[in-house]
Amino acid sequence: MNKKITVIGAGLAGCEAAWQAAERGVEVTLYEMKPKRFSPAHHSEGFAELVCSNSLRSIQLSNAVGLLKEELSLLGSLIMEAAYQSRVPAGAALAVNREAFSNYITEKIRNHPKITVINEEITEIPTEGIVVVASGPLTSEALSRSISELTGGDELHFFDAAAPIVDFSSINTEVAFFASRYGKGDAEDYLNCPMTKEQYDAFYEALISAECAPLKAFDRELQEDLKVFEGCMPVEVMAKRGYDTLRFGPMKPVGLPLPETGEDAYATVQLRRENREGTMYNLVGFQTHLTFPEQRRVFGMIPGLENAEFFRYGVMHRNTYLNSPGFLTPTYSVKGREGLFFAGQMTGVEGYIESTSSGFVAGLNAALLALGEPSAVFPKETQIGALAHYVSEGGIGSSFQPMNANFGIIAPLDKKVKGGKKYRNEAYAERSLAIIKERYGNSHTNENTD
Ligand SMILES: Cc1cc2nc3c(=O)[nH]c(=O)nc-3n(C[C@H](O)[C@H](O)[C@H](O)COP(=O)(O)OP(=O)(O)OC[C@H]3O[C@@H](n4cnc5c(N)ncnc54)[C@H](O)[C@@H]3O)c2cc1C
Repeated sequence: MNKKITVIGAGLAGCEAAWQAAERGVEVTLYEMKPKRFSPAHHSEGFAELVCSNSLRSIQLSNAVGLLKEELSLLGSLIMEAAYQSRVPAGAALAVNREAFSNYITEKIRNHPKITVINEEITEIPTEGIVVVASGPLTSEALSRSISELTGGDELHFFDAAAPIVDFSSINTEVAFFASRYGKGDAEDYLNCPMTKEQYDAFYEALISAECAPLKAFDRELQEDLKVFEGCMPVEVMAKRGYDTLRFGPMKPVGLPLPETGEDAYATVQLRRENREGTMYNLVGFQTHLTFPEQRRVFGMIPGLENAEFFRYGVMHRNTYLNSPGFLTPTYSVKGREGLFFAGQMTGVEGYIESTSSGFVAGLNAALLALGEPSAVFPKETQIGALAHYVSEGGIGSSFQPMNANFGIIAPLDKKVKGGKKYRNEAYAERSLAIIKERYGNSHTNENTD
């Protein structure tokens, strides 16, 4: 039996995938292009380089990414082990000393008897053997071309321009009303937040003066190359074109009469259902480059969204990612191409820990395939499984956008939990961890959590 696999990219996902396979006795060849070549965001020679923040976000179990961390810790994740070993004080967040974090992982990988590291850029997807491609959101050009060919051209995106997604249960439905424009289609697909002229004026002023996130040089260049603003202009840029531009664009009120009066509002923000369960809604046409606190402040001025909880914020940045729904399976393998897996940010998960989780699932399944064992599909009741299912199945309606860990994608609870969101989220966490412990064993619980 062919008990070996190849992993491309020693980032968060690639290291986790390589480790999981090697720990199961599979020979791993890990290719990393650094230090011969660096992406525009990578600068150090070490593996699992954190390209931006040193925070891996919350560790609280009532937070979805906190739950995902705990699941990964229980499952024996190398990245989580390194994170706790290199932890620096950061309140309820897990922040790390980035050098110590990367050094820990680099040493573990380099010293593993089953892992061989080769510092080479891979320019084409290997046609033979079991392969995990984990080359990240800034995959080198040659490999991107090869992936593009594999997917038929249109299935690989190079830029992520996404509108925010909010938690349905945090929307005030006494203000926001269900209706699709001119009554076409299913009314439940859209929620509408109507504005008076006074509300629009205040919102407009706040939007055009709000703070934007700084653009990285390579994001700016790519935006110019792709003429991204032609197709999906950020809502704040559109607003700056003129007072009425939004009212004739994404905030068009026509065909959406107010339920009480039958009249059109002065302006209307539409939210479209993001998933079948109806737990998530996205703000249609609101792709944005505002900072996250400004998104909370300015979009919180939209009637009905005063207390909106954001599952994901709007972003506009360079991001090489696959149109994964229908292309990947929940094990992150390519449908119809046995032995080829993708992992990390390029599968359409978003964030350090989310990339790690897809690396875990892909690496584990690549190893199981090499060992001739059945694959492991994590259930939707767990955060690790919910992400894998979301990526491979997608939401509804709008085009596929990368997704971070959140409770909107997890399978709903059987019964309603009283006491508010915190208690509901804790119930999700309790259910998920029980499944992980029962089905997958308690291989590496974390001893260093304080
Ligand atoms: C600029 C930027 C900032 C980000 N900031 C954050 C943040 O603050 N918080 C957060 O949660 N997420 C952030 N992300 C998103 C994402 O979580 C990270 O990019 C994360 O590192 C993705 O993990 P990965 O393993 O998929 O890719 P990476 O960590 O990027 O690893 C990919 C590896 O593959 C190598 N590689 C690339 N092409 C080849 C090739 N052809 N052959 C061999 N090796 C190759 C690269 O050198 C790299 O080491 C950011 C992304 C970007 C681009």
